[in-house]
Amino acid sequence: MDNTALLRRVLLEQAAHAMCLVCLKTGALLERNRMFDALFPDFTPDIRTFVQADSLKNSWQPMIIKQKNDALFQAKVIFFDQDSQTALVSFRRSGAWEYLAHAATEERLFDSFPAVAFIHDLNGVMLACNKAACEYMRIPRPELLGRNVSDLMPPKAVAALKELLDKSMLTATPINETFSYISDGDSEKTWMGAYIQPLMAADGGAVEAVLIMLRDISEQFLVEQRLATRDRLLQATSQAAQVLLSGGKDFADSMNEVLAILGKATDVDRVYVWSIHPSPNPEINSELHTTQLYEWSLGAEPQQDLDICTNRPVSEAIPTWIDTFMSGRCVNNLVKNMPVLEQEQLSPQGIISIMTAPIIFNGELWGFIGFDDCHSEYIWSELEENILRAAGMIVGAAIHNHRINDALEEANAQLAAAAEIARNLAEEAKQANEAKSDFLANMSHEIRTPMNAIMGILQMVLRMPISPRQAIQHLEKIDFSTKALLRIINDILDFSKIEAGMLDMEKIPFYVEDVIRGVIDLTKHRVEEKGLAMFFEKDPEIQGQYLGDPLRLSQVLTNLCTNATKFTSEGHITVAAKLQEKNDTEATLLFSVTDTGIGISPDQQQRIFSAFTQADTSITRRYGGTGLGLALCKKLTQLMGGDIWCESEADKGSTFSFSIRLGLVNSESRHDAQSRAFEELNVLIVESATTSRSKLYESLHSMGCRMLEKASTIDHALEKAGVADAGRRLI
Ligand code: ADP
Repeated sequence: MDNTALLRRVLLEQAAHAMCLVCLKTGALLERNRMFDALFPDFTPDIRTFVQADSLKNSWQPMIIKQKNDALFQAKVIFFDQDSQTALVSFRRSGAWEYLAHAATEERLFDSFPAVAFIHDLNGVMLACNKAACEYMRIPRPELLGRNVSDLMPPKAVAALKELLDKSMLTATPINETFSYISDGDSEKTWMGAYIQPLMAADGGAVEAVLIMLRDISEQFLVEQRLATRDRLLQATSQAAQVLLSGGKDFADSMNEVLAILGKATDVDRVYVWSIHPSPNPEINSELHTTQLYEWSLGAEPQQDLDICTNRPVSEAIPTWIDTFMSGRCVNNLVKNMPVLEQEQLSPQGIISIMTAPIIFNGELWGFIGFDDCHSEYIWSELEENILRAAGMIVGAAIHNHRINDALEEANAQLAAAAEIARNLAEEAKQANEAKSDFLANMSHEIRTPMNAIMGILQMVLRMPISPRQAIQHLEKIDFSTKALLRIINDILDFSKIEAGMLDMEKIPFYVEDVIRGVIDLTKHRVEEKGLAMFFEKDPEIQGQYLGDPLRLSQVLTNLCTNATKFTSEGHITVAAKLQEKNDTEATLLFSVTDTGIGISPDQQQRIFSAFTQADTSITRRYGGTGLGLALCKKLTQLMGGDIWCESEADKGSTFSFSIRLGLVNSESRHDAQSRAFEELNVLIVESATTSRSKLYESLHSMGCRMLEKASTIDHALEKAGVADAGRRLI
């Protein structure tokens, strides 16, 4: 072996791969290293055929060794000397992927495989592909191999695929995922199922190429999506029905929940229910009107509180839909494809796609349900449309029933109220009837007593001789009884006159104070007989003349004072009058009669102003009376433009107050003259009871007396009188 040959040999032994030096002219193997012998122990491959076919390709090329069960090796020409036709060739055993690529290209292994399949190296250079790939990339196979994949697929698909590729490369593991893209000029999305398998070198394990299998699953994807949507809608509809049928919740809450369920299931931004109803003002506009009843919204602005959602004529609110609904059809469209009129209404609300379905009961249009999509273009399939229409019917039926129930409940409540009124009226009638019977019994008693007295005295006088003194006493008794009779008869007459609306009130000038003093004078005798004190509290403001009916005022006051005297056994009675309000022509005066008598319980206070009613029968038996007085007072005060009421506590006493309106008279008030007269008067009040003394003091003060003295005992009084001036008068 010469030196050159030795050097060659040493160098070859240094190489990591199996190597040989071959003369292509003769086919003789000039040199081989140990690795070569290890790779091909039993035979020598025909290197010539391989190198001639792919001469000078300085990359690994597949090489099938026929003699070795078609085992696949790879060879690479490292150096070729043209002159001597000598080539230095390196060999290695092929990995599985290379075999795959080879098989795919040479033997059309994948051509029956329907998916797009191709192998590219790490730079994206296409190494092998099947028939489907050629069709997908629309290039014949020979032109396809060696080109870069990124130039062969739609750019959007390349970008989407790259993400998956990177992911797979990073982990060096296969992935099976879907991706989608919209090709330029296409409106539909293409969905692809992608299987990506990184291919490793057999020896080192490093990734050297990638097998990609793609399958257009757009159709299948859409079908699956539609099926999933259908299932979601069916589930939501049944859930909505359950919520509405289970009840127990506030109806508005249930409706909100139901619309939210439908909104989420349909992935829309707004769901709403409108009713279509007769016009609220048929005389102004007789066409059908529409009102939004419920609304759910997520990404969209709610409409519920806007004016445009209540009582709108259909020609204004849903001009083009009403005919569609009337014919039982749905509106299901992209807003951009709708008539301009509708676009103008819907676009400002941000709606991109819309679906509205009529709600029809018994062949009549009741309303509609609507779904606004403000984020995507979507046209509902016929099946989906039908499901949503059914959901609308369920919701509409629930609202309809709820309204009927409400109306029923209201009718029931009205019926119950009417029954209650009827019961009260019956009770009142019964009470009035009982009161009338009591009244008749009392009345006959009240009339018979003085009549019996008169007749008894008359018989006595007629039968036996009497002295003139006795005659006077008898005549006084007769006088008393006839007055009592007359009072009763007058009360009855007045009452029936008022009932018949025939009592005319006088309008004459009078002094209120005169009337009060007259009443006090009239009752004073009986008051004194019972050992009671009587006071008059006068508001200086009531001085002066008024226009009204002094007789009727006197009648009311007398009645109250008589009652106060009748029902009080000790203490005092106070009559008060004050000005409540006044304008240029009228004044409202407030009168009260307070006693320290038996008082009236609260429930009795409710009844005593009704005709023929007395507080209770035991009182009647004890005190007598007809039960007509206060009823008459009530009517008279009302005729005088006011009212009467009572405050009382059992066993403590009562205050009966009444107001009346009187006209004003433009005459000089007597007040000044009277006040002047009293101003000059020196008065010493002698009274042991503190309350009475104070009341007397106040009364005199209100009359104008300014020089007032009080004493509680005679001694005290004499003491004060003793130091009195010569001008002081004792009264
Ligand atoms: P009568 O003629 O029976 O007194 P009224 O209508 O004047 O009729 O009074 C009705 C009832 O009101 C009386 O029977 C009595 O029970 C009650 N009543 C009226 N005034 C007083 C009062 N000052 N104190 C207590 N009870 C009174």
